[in-house]
Amino acid sequence: MGSKQKCYNCGKIIKEKELTKEHIPAKNLFEGYNEKYKIQRITVSACLKCNQQYSPTDEDFRNMIGAIAKRKENNAITNKTKRSLLRKDPTRNTFSLDSLGKISGITLNEITVEEYHKKNFKGIFFNQYGEIFNEKKYSIYVNIDENDWSLPTLGILGFLKDLFNRKVSGHEDILNYSLQPFRLGIENPSKNDLIPSINENIYVGYFDYVKEHAALVIAVRKNYLRMIKWKKRWQCIITPIFKYFSK
Ligand SMILES: [Zn+2]
Repeated sequence: MGSKQKCYNCGKIIKEKELTKEHIPAKNLFEGYNEKYKIQRITVSACLKCNQQYSPTDEDFRNMIGAIAKRKENNAITNKTKRSLLRKDPTRNTFSLDSLGKISGITLNEITVEEYHKKNFKGIFFNQYGEIFNEKKYSIYVNIDENDWSLPTLGILGFLKDLFNRKVSGHEDILNYSLQPFRLGIENPSKNDLIPSINENIYVGYFDYVKEHAALVIAVRKNYLRMIKWKKRWQCIITPIFKYFSK
């Protein structure tokens, strides 16, 4: 039989009967979009346990998107969200629907949203490099607050935008993204992917979903964090980035 497949998430070799495909992003974000949006969707091998583990996360994230969606292209996602919310909470304690059917009062569960972005970061990493992202070796930070994107954050976004081509899963309207090692002072005229070193200090990823919600994911090597512990950790990462982009 074919080569042994590893799970993108836990890294274990998957038994044949437990082999599943995880879509990055989850299929529920394609609701209402026709076949031309589903060309070359990214999938990664996943064990049954990891796949099932993320099902509630996928649904909650879809519901968050459905509640905040402004584009008419995402109406079908919003309709699915209403049904999902009503099924989970028929008495509408945790949300409300106005006379126009608009959802309000839904609270965004930060943990769920973070988990969703971390999962997709791991999936894209596996898809791009053919290697499991080592969660024991790196700490992952997720920044989703676009209203509070600081100058260093904007610097990282500029790094990704200026030096690399944005990639897509399915279609740019569903997920467009960029995931690269973060290296200060480099040039990259070809805009091709960088090849990660074994001990890459920082990876940065930008993910834009159905043009409604975006996240910046930053993975920092734990030993690198320890190395720079004489200062407040986060500032040590951010300060050189800030200096680089403000020069
Ligand atoms: Zn797994």
